[in-house]
Amino acid sequence: MPFSPIPRGVYPSVTSLRAKDLADRGIRLVLADLDNTLVPYKVTQPPQAIVDWKEELEAAGIQLFLLSNSRKPGRAKNFAEKLGIPYQGHSGKPKKAGYLRAMERMGCTPKETVMVGDQIFTDTLGANNAGVTPLLVEPIRLAGNPARYVRYAIETPFRLLGKGRPFL
Ligand SMILES: [Mg+2]
Repeated sequence: MPFSPIPRGVYPSVTSLRAKDLADRGIRLVLADLDNTLVPYKVTQPPQAIVDWKEELEAAGIQLFLLSNSRKPGRAKNFAEKLGIPYQGHSGKPKKAGYLRAMERMGCTPKETVMVGDQIFTDTLGANNAGVTPLLVEPIRLAGNPARYVRYAIETPFRLLGKGRPFL
């Protein structure tokens, strides 16, 4: 649904999204947010669980792609290179241009693509703008920045609505 802040389900973490379930829904491309989705803010090394998840996706014919808004120079690039996946930094979410460029690069349609992220007003809204299925995950860590709690509170009604219409 375009211009909607409502996700298609809320999941505990990215690794709870099973490759087989995604493949069964015809998904070939997973766009992933970085901060608080794949790893906490400031973590630069992909944990083993994320490496394993990426390999599980690849074995099911699904490409993982890092779509980050990070303005920290090199953060998205360094993380993506360590994980061995394509990436795009400064993606401008919730604008749809970054999503469209990523799908074009990977040769996938919106129907074959999901976006997984922790934030309603960037990850989810942008995915809906681009016609991509938005999967919301719980933020890995809210501690350390009071603004994150405020944002999470504002997002809560949309999280609740999203829980009622899961994609998987
Ligand atoms: Mg995030």
